[in-house]
Amino acid sequence: MSTLKPEVLIIGAGPGGYVAAIYAAKKGKSVILLDGKWIGGTCLNEGCIPTKALVKSSELYSDLINGEKHGISAKDIKIDFEKVIDNKNQITEKLVSGIKFLLNRYGVKVIEGYGTFLNDKQVKVSENEEDYIIEAKNIIIATGSKTKHLPIKGINLKNVFDSGSILNNTKLPSSLTVIGGGIIGMEFAFIYAQLGVKVNVIEFLPRILPTVEKDVALRLVRFAKQLDIDIYTSSAVEKIEESAEGLKIVYKRKDKQEELISEYVLEAVGRGPNIDKLGLENTGLEYDERKGVSVDSHMRTNIENIYAIGDVTNIIQLAHVASHQAIVAIDNINGGKKEMNYDIIPSVIFTNPPIATVGLTEEACKEKGIEIEMVKTPFSANGKALILESETGFIKLIRDKLTKKLIGATIFGKEAENLVASYGIAISNKLDAEQIKETVFAHPTIQELVHESVLGLDKEAIHFVD
Ligand SMILES: Cc1cc2nc3c(=O)[nH]c(=O)nc-3n(C[C@H](O)[C@H](O)[C@H](O)COP(=O)(O)OP(=O)(O)OC[C@H]3O[C@@H](n4cnc5c(N)ncnc54)[C@H](O)[C@@H]3O)c2cc1C
Repeated sequence: MSTLKPEVLIIGAGPGGYVAAIYAAKKGKSVILLDGKWIGGTCLNEGCIPTKALVKSSELYSDLINGEKHGISAKDIKIDFEKVIDNKNQITEKLVSGIKFLLNRYGVKVIEGYGTFLNDKQVKVSENEEDYIIEAKNIIIATGSKTKHLPIKGINLKNVFDSGSILNNTKLPSSLTVIGGGIIGMEFAFIYAQLGVKVNVIEFLPRILPTVEKDVALRLVRFAKQLDIDIYTSSAVEKIEESAEGLKIVYKRKDKQEELISEYVLEAVGRGPNIDKLGLENTGLEYDERKGVSVDSHMRTNIENIYAIGDVTNIIQLAHVASHQAIVAIDNINGGKKEMNYDIIPSVIFTNPPIATVGLTEEACKEKGIEIEMVKTPFSANGKALILESETGFIKLIRDKLTKKLIGATIFGKEAENLVASYGIAISNKLDAEQIKETVFAHPTIQELVHESVLGLDKEAIHFVD
């Protein structure tokens, strides 16, 4: 048994942990990074990156079969789903090996093993049958989240997948029922529907995407219908059974029992903090199986020199939040005073079209009693949006009526994931419309809508009636 004494020990190598490791090493700290499963965490291996590789493949297929109006028609377009999955794997592997290179380049010692607290000061880990005790000056817990499962009969049947296992399945089914109309569920619904699979979505709540503004979520439902995605809201799945036609999904809707048949089922009912194997019971840390590890805005736990970041804190389950929390934690370890501000976190749903939000929504402003001015800018006011066939999109831009500062934007339309960055910079730097009006945007780009939307706030829009 060897004892190691780094300045920083990080448990978990996802976008929280690996970012903390590289950043700390670049700031001159000696760093040990542990991961029992893989470098890159959920995000690179089973989350953000692999799903977006599938989004690209499914949109490519959809564009090809719908190319007629561009005068482009192709015959015999086929899907080789094994290759689709292989392409996704290659992207993931490339990214993971890039992270490994960087960790090595900056002198981070990586130990492939699960870390377990023995007490507040010591963590035990085993690698290749060698045991280590690590006594670090500072410890960062970055063990992420794990999939939640429904306690229902049939959830373990063959062909019932979760968001991790479905990513390695190489057979394209004829039909798929997604349980859960949240972000992950809706992204998979669009991926499979665009690949020609008959998709159903069963959602417990009265509407899909409960975290998104109602009018935006309802607009997405129209696009789902065009892809023949059937959505059953206010419906609770009770059991899944095998039948001669496929999997029978029995659910209750308005007190009536109904059923659907499909070849595959995807369970996408959320994720909870992962504290398995961590041995938190051996420490004095404040934590909860459901809420994760408690932290303050500096990412400090209740025990001095122990920090927690990312999904395990269960604050916002997004990769960029985990990575930013990593920077905040390392800054505090280095004697700084950085704090997390969760008010201006962008969030993107990669459906087709995508949805992006940053800052406050109209609904949130109402709840908080903030007086606002809002403009809804149509994508039809933009040449590039027409080229991208996204003229039905829109941006809801909100400013505080009193301070005149921009405080929120919700975007529904192609390239929403990129557009949201401009609004994020504006809102976090407390800009007002006047400052953006003086910025020149290249033509023809979707970004011109940023300009148009701030003009619209003052009834100065050129390309639409405000
Ligand atoms: C299908 C899907 C799609 C997603 N898409 C997006 C997206 O588009 N954009 C976005 O921002 N977010 C997305 N997310 C969420 C994103 O993946 C997470 O928010 C992010 O990975 C959290 O990072 P993390 O570092 O906290 O944890 P993780 O990425 O979960 O990493 C935690 C790591 O800790 C390791 N670990 C756990 N316990 C121990 C232990 N005791 N010892 C050592 N190692 C341990 C695990 O093996 C894991 O590698 C998606 C998630 C899913 C499931």
